[in-house]
Order: sequence, then structure tokens, then C-alpha cells
Amino acid sequence: MGNWFEALMNFIFPPHCPLCHKYVENRGDWCKVCLSLACQPHRLPITAPMQSVIDSAWALSVYRGGTRDLIRGLKYQDKRSNLPYLKRLLQTAEQSAGVRKLLEESSCAVPVPLHEKRQRERGFNQAELIFGDWLQEHSVPVENMLRRVRPTKPLYPLTARERMANLSGAFRLGQEGMEKGKTILLVDDIMTTGATLYACAKVLQQAGAGKIQALVLASDQV
Ligand SMILES: [Zn+2]
Repeated sequence: MGNWFEALMNFIFPPHCPLCHKYVENRGDWCKVCLSLACQPHRLPITAPMQSVIDSAWALSVYRGGTRDLIRGLKYQDKRSNLPYLKRLLQTAEQSAGVRKLLEESSCAVPVPLHEKRQRERGFNQAELIFGDWLQEHSVPVENMLRRVRPTKPLYPLTARERMANLSGAFRLGQEGMEKGKTILLVDDIMTTGATLYACAKVLQQAGAGKIQALVLASDQV
């Protein structure tokens, strides 16, 4: 986009903070207050049986308020105009030493896959869309090596134990296979109980992955 075009767009549709709608300088910017409230990189507690497959897990934000609205808008209303805000959140979160270490250690990133049918309906995999560019900028190649072979029931009414049972056998390694011993970063948009990440990590571990770490945009666990 040319500079003059951007200037014209900014004149007609002034860029604003996605939450409080205060005017900001560039498209995709948040105001300082909202961004510092939304961007809270934190290490997630990992309990058994997740400990046996996932080395560490990080969330960059808490799944409520603004972050939740942006993710839900993207997933359920196809609002791709939310992506620059989410990317700005990632760029802010990378200032955290823990997040930088996660990126530096990873030989590749694997987005949690959707079932083929769901992906066709939605038109994209949100984990890949949210993290793809940013990971590339950090020289972490995205490899779609997992397949969701079984559509699963909605997880929200289920208990943690039921979620794990529901997801057992839902993921497989794709035909391209996997180089053994890699340090893998599993990425997803949100984490609630961690059952999905666990099911994916288990498949990767059985296929010979080295260290497996997880990164989600938001979690409802603080
Ligand atoms: Zn704001």
C-alpha cells in the first residue's frame, strides 16, 4: 500500500484502539493503556498428565475482555481486520524474555489443526493465521504436520476427563512425517483445560519429537 493511500485511508477512517476506540497513530495500534492490559505473557501451570509430554506452556494474554472479542470476531465473524491488532499484541509480547526463549529454542511451529470440514467452512486455521507471519519473522518455520482425523464434539460442556476421552485418537501425524528430535512449538489461539494441546503433543511425542512446548494467544487460566 502506497504511503499516500495509507494517509488517505487514515484521513477517511482514522485508526483507533480496538477496545476504547481512542484515536491512535497507525492502523493496528492499540492505545498504551489497553495494550498493556491485554498483553500479559505468562507461563501456564502444567499438571499431570500434560507434564509427561509438554515441557512448558505460555499464554500471551488472558482470554477475556478485548482479547476474547478480537479472537471471537476473527473465528466466528471472519473479521480478518482484527489480525493487525493481534499481531501488535504478539510483537509486544515478544519483549518478554520467556517468550523470546521459546522462539529461539523452537526448530519449527505446529499449529493445532482443525478438522478438514471445519477448516473448509471457516476458510482458515485461526492458529496459523494469528501466528504465521510473526513466527516467520522470528525464523520459526510453520509445519502443518498434524491432521485432525475425527471431528470432535464441542468441548465446553465437558469435564477435563471427558475432554481427554473425546480427543483421544482425534489427531494423527500427516503423511509427510516428521524429522526426529526436533524442538516443537505447538501453537493455538486459546487454551482452557489443555486437553487439545495434550492430545496433539502426545502424537508428536510418539512420532519422536524432542522437546515440545506450547504457545497460545490467550488462556482463561492465570
Ligand atoms: Zn484503548
